[in-house]
Amino acid sequence: MMLDATKTIRRAAVIGSGFGGLSLAIRLQAAGIRTTVFEQRDKPGGRAYVYEQDGFTFDGGPTVITDPTCLEEVFAAAGRKLSDYVELMPVSPFYRLLWPDGRQFDYVNDQAALDAQIATFDKADVEGYRRFLAYSQAVFEEGYLKLGAVPFLEFSSMMKAAPKLVRLEAWRSVYAMVSRFIRDDHLRQAFSFHSLLVGGNPFSTSSIYALIHALERKWGVFFPRGGTGALVRGMVKLFTDLGGEIRLTSPVDEIVVEGQRATAVKLKSGETLPFDLVASNADVVHTYRHLLRGAARGRSEGARLAKTRHSMSLFVTYFGARRTWDHLQHHTVLFGPRYRGLVDEIFKGPNLPDDFSLYLHAPTVTDKSLAPEGCTAFYVLSPVPHLGKADIDWEVEGPLYRDRILAHLEERLLPGLRDSLVTSRILTPFGFRDELSAHQGSAFSVEPLLTQSAWFRPHNRDAKIANLYFAGAGTHPGAGVPGVVGSAKATAGLILADLGVTPR
Ligand SMILES: Cc1cc2nc3c(=O)[nH]c(=O)nc-3n(C[C@H](O)[C@H](O)[C@H](O)COP(=O)(O)OP(=O)(O)OC[C@H]3O[C@@H](n4cnc5c(N)ncnc54)[C@H](O)[C@@H]3O)c2cc1C
Repeated sequence: MMLDATKTIRRAAVIGSGFGGLSLAIRLQAAGIRTTVFEQRDKPGGRAYVYEQDGFTFDGGPTVITDPTCLEEVFAAAGRKLSDYVELMPVSPFYRLLWPDGRQFDYVNDQAALDAQIATFDKADVEGYRRFLAYSQAVFEEGYLKLGAVPFLEFSSMMKAAPKLVRLEAWRSVYAMVSRFIRDDHLRQAFSFHSLLVGGNPFSTSSIYALIHALERKWGVFFPRGGTGALVRGMVKLFTDLGGEIRLTSPVDEIVVEGQRATAVKLKSGETLPFDLVASNADVVHTYRHLLRGAARGRSEGARLAKTRHSMSLFVTYFGARRTWDHLQHHTVLFGPRYRGLVDEIFKGPNLPDDFSLYLHAPTVTDKSLAPEGCTAFYVLSPVPHLGKADIDWEVEGPLYRDRILAHLEERLLPGLRDSLVTSRILTPFGFRDELSAHQGSAFSVEPLLTQSAWFRPHNRDAKIANLYFAGAGTHPGAGVPGVVGSAKATAGLILADLGVTPR
């Protein structure tokens, strides 16, 4: 849908070039609002930053691309086609799941293959899985399709959704709901771990997040040719093709507020630029507490948000090996010996657990261009407590933890790994804090609890500063690529309505 330009030229600042910031910037620019994106790092993408090292290309963050339609919609809003900018390749299995007792489950999008595998764990769970899928589809309809891109600005909007949420028993946890339908312990893990992918503890996150399962079954799992970085580059190209401006290595130091309006952004360099509206894709606590420190609203809201529960952090090791392994899949989850106990320690601290559950990404299985010939590119991710929960000196602990993880991978899945290692780098909670300005080094911002979702989440438009908006993981609906792209849709809708911009 193309939108008409406003009669007077309006100027918008978007702070941050994550998927939420880029999606919003494209929608605004396409609607005729002159938009500038300010990014503090030297490359766009935010958590989807790309590291290039020793001939390997490492996507920093998101690798499981779901719901391609939300991305197609962003391009369509500008009258373009996603497929002209980037190719999304289907990945199967979605994930291979491995347990220490040797059990394996290939999570594929084929009912018969799923049934056959489920039956090897517990025959009764074949029927249980069908009932779980039906539940997941119902929350997907309600929580994603209907409410995913609706801004919850008034409490009444929450009340309207409440009866449905009650009917779906949204106060229960994802794990509790899965356990109602599924008996086998492995399968309970297999169908509940997804909330971790958006920063939610399966034992306390609302069962609404069980919708991720239906979402993956509906559209599949994809990987962009050239890596997730190619998707970022495609979005940046679209934005600049439309005439938008992106300024890298340009940290914003302050959002200038006069009365109850944001009037300008002040860069760390000292440059101050006037804008008609400001949208922040940066961490919500950083935005209120630091960027709005000159405004009473910033100080009060910043103090309040700093006390909300934040998602765990992640420890990511990017590494390259000069060999390949047969039977390696693109996405592998290696569960540890404990599930509930481990997740509990990750969310509560105060120490780094001794055991771990790992997600291993091997993109060269799908796209060989991401490593030199005959080599394999990887990243392995371990959820860890954020800095508010565990006081760990990652400068010291990081390299030791990396070595433990690589040894574990060598033992369980990748024989000969350490002898064939050619390059590695790590991202610790310190990196989330220092490079991404993330509160407490959280990887996914405000934790997706029912009491911190929808109206209870930081709103897409500030309640007091009328032309200050938000898009990204910290606002509705939340983290994950489809989540932040949905948040940008909600926010763009608000901005265009506030400016009186009507569809052409
Ligand atoms: C390791 C990892 C793996 C993940 N895997 C997946 C996955 O497979 N699938 C999935 O869907 N999701 C995944 N996620 C979640 C997903 O990546 C994020 O929820 C999403 O990308 C966040 O996007 P965002 O729009 O909130 O912005 P962010 O990516 O958080 O970007 C915000 C940007 O703002 C910039 N910024 C901050 N402060 C300032 C300032 N003052 N001035 C200028 N710029 C500033 C930052 O530098 C950053 O670039 C993963 C996350 C991580 C960390």
